[in-house]
Amino acid sequence: MDQFLHGRTALVTGSTSGIGLAIACALGAAGARVAINGLGSEEQIAAAIAQVEAAGAQQARHFGADLREPEQIAQMMAQIDAWSPLDVLVNNAGIQHAAPLAQQPLQKWNDIIAINLSSAFHTMHAALPGMAARGFGRVVNIASVHGLVASKDKAPYVASKHGIIGLSKVAALEYAAQGNRTSGGVTVNCVCPGWVETPLIEPQIQARIGDGSREDGVAALLAEKQPSLRMSLPEDIAALVVWLCRREAHNVTGASLPVDGGWTAQ
Ligand code: NAD
Repeated sequence: MDQFLHGRTALVTGSTSGIGLAIACALGAAGARVAINGLGSEEQIAAAIAQVEAAGAQQARHFGADLREPEQIAQMMAQIDAWSPLDVLVNNAGIQHAAPLAQQPLQKWNDIIAINLSSAFHTMHAALPGMAARGFGRVVNIASVHGLVASKDKAPYVASKHGIIGLSKVAALEYAAQGNRTSGGVTVNCVCPGWVETPLIEPQIQARIGDGSREDGVAALLAEKQPSLRMSLPEDIAALVVWLCRREAHNVTGASLPVDGGWTAQ
């Protein structure tokens, strides 16, 4: 693979699992030094580091901040900056809780807004000035189709994902003129996946199995919203994130790119 990120440093939040782990591996394969973040057992974290290094990362290290805690995020960002100034920031960590609005526990609202939205404000607040000073930076926020359209039973999630799209547009405008075509500039974009095969959506698959198999649950979920009737793989999302990090993507900023099998075209 073309190691165009050799000498660059990337942070991927929530990269101990799912889409984040695939993004960390893909950025590693492109030669980046990768800061991994996310919850998990010691074994899970060690396995994530090993996977990212095996993919080709110049170096991989885990930073254990709980993204519900702004203090811990500030500490993590300072530690990463001391390790190696950040060129690529992927705000990927996210949680879901599906229930009607009136049955959403307050704690779930607070946690979803903190992890899915506020943590991205805190990391961008810390990282963008350095990117601007160096004339190169990439922020990719993993939003969702639920940043563009709503579904019932997902009030905090849909609010957080609409919020991160707005936040990203503001940052894109504020940093659009930094750097130049040669340095690559500073861009801020959102990727908006439909259904992707990860542990996050497993409860929603299980809820649709009824008397059938897991495959029936997946088919039912896809039939509701995703016209391609195919799930994305985490690697599919990661490939787009890597492309957004290329120099030639310098004029793609403030965009919200759906990877949703036609979901939001309806
Ligand atoms: P996942 O559950 O596999 O991974 C979530 C990651 O976030 C894990 O590494 C977890 O440790 C981390 N995390 C959770 N709480 C945290 C906290 N308090 N502090 C630090 N890290 C924390 O989920 P996924 O499906 O890979 O989701 C990744 C992103 O993609 C999320 O933002 C999600 O909303 C988005 N997304 C997923 C889908 C899908 O179908 N899977 C669709 C659209 C958008």
